[in-house]
Amino acid sequence: MNAATRVDALIVGAGPAGLMAAEVLAGQGARVLVAEAMPTPARKFLMAGKSGLNLTKNEGRDAFSRRLHGPMLQGVGQVAGHALGIDEFGPAEAIRWAKGLGIEMFTGSTGRVFPVGMKASPLLRAWLSRLRGQGVDLRTRWRWTGFEGQAWRFDTPDGAVLLDPNVAVLGLGGASWPRLGSDATWIPWLAGQGVRIAPFRPANMGFRVHWSAAMTRHFGQAVKGTAISAGALVSRGEWVVTAQGVEGGGIYEIAQALRDGQDGRIDLAPDLPLAELARRFYRAPARLSVGNRIRRVLGDPMRAALLMEWGQPLPADPDGLAAAAKSLPLRHDGAAGLDRAISSAGGIMAEALGERLELSVLPGVFAAGEMLDWEAPTGGYLLTACLASGRLAGTGAAMKLGLRPR
Ligand SMILES: Cc1cc2nc3c(=O)[nH]c(=O)nc-3n(C[C@H](O)[C@H](O)[C@H](O)COP(=O)(O)OP(=O)(O)OC[C@H]3O[C@@H](n4cnc5c(N)ncnc54)[C@H](O)[C@@H]3O)c2cc1C
Repeated sequence: MNAATRVDALIVGAGPAGLMAAEVLAGQGARVLVAEAMPTPARKFLMAGKSGLNLTKNEGRDAFSRRLHGPMLQGVGQVAGHALGIDEFGPAEAIRWAKGLGIEMFTGSTGRVFPVGMKASPLLRAWLSRLRGQGVDLRTRWRWTGFEGQAWRFDTPDGAVLLDPNVAVLGLGGASWPRLGSDATWIPWLAGQGVRIAPFRPANMGFRVHWSAAMTRHFGQAVKGTAISAGALVSRGEWVVTAQGVEGGGIYEIAQALRDGQDGRIDLAPDLPLAELARRFYRAPARLSVGNRIRRVLGDPMRAALLMEWGQPLPADPDGLAAAAKSLPLRHDGAAGLDRAISSAGGIMAEALGERLELSVLPGVFAAGEMLDWEAPTGGYLLTACLASGRLAGTGAAMKLGLRPR
């Protein structure tokens, strides 16, 4: 094989974190090569666009930062997410950045921010065009396959290539939805260099449930009007009953606590005090079966079915039924796997990282995005933190090259 080719700034992974690092480095005058394993860039970003592309949450940086969790964010005081660069690139900057690419944004009633077109592809097209204009060289089907001595080895359509970068930023993603590119195959190569990596676990995922036959007719239906909780997390969001279990936004909001062993509880009538719900059960005709009384009082077949599924043995008295409906156990059989999780927890640990996300054992190599050991709920937190950390790593790499913001 030929000797390694010298490269000014190498980015591995063309997801939001890697592309943001490329933008910063190229913006400061570096010659940037982006190597992406898949045939096209940013596949997970495009997948996020299928549900409207929730780019960020319209709230202050500190409030935003507090929604990011994980060992690498501890010890940074009140504003945990600032370790990922949220203090330099928060929600307001994310909105400004998207608008700067010509994408009109709007804030929904819950503070979530989306492109008006509810799609990722126009934003990605504009972004790639900006990067091309900056001279960024994007190579697809270039898969990083580890180190060969000091050089970085890639499988490319033209065979194996060795690169010797002055600086590098890794934006290889976490371990969820591996078919979109982030398959975490890099773990042994970095671990072999002494980089400490926490095992990946699913985050923002569904939970498996072995339903009784009575639930079959509810598969695919949304559960509305509940409050579900686990530990300190509470969600009023909708969720869905499927043949495999439960999933959807409402579940994802409490998924971290459920995954980590906290019991889940469902309030099937969150807007009614317990005494009022009990009064309604007292008023339901005693000649009705328990099932029909529940359906009459809860007024919704799905919520009634859940009480009959998870409330067994059902209390016969109105007070007992009301109490069960206000605090129903969410009985699951474990978290669904990484394959369909929205994101992952785990990754490169805080102790492996120095200033601006530089790997302590590999000077000049930075890492960003979901491959770092943090997690966040859905709601725009993930993408903004990936962009922010890509920016932080990119500016760190630019400083290493002796460049200054233009
Ligand atoms: C269905 C779905 C919906 C989502 N919706 C939202 C949302 O609305 N809002 C939100 O904030 N977040 C959302 N997310 C999460 C968000 O998309 C991710 O957190 C984000 O894309 C992670 O960015 P990243 O750059 O760290 O990694 P990725 O986007 O995973 O990019 C990593 C890139 O590295 C490449 N790569 C990996 N290994 C190699 C290698 N060896 N060589 C070369 N290249 C490699 C991959 O092919 C990939 O292109 C969603 C995720 C999913 C799955």
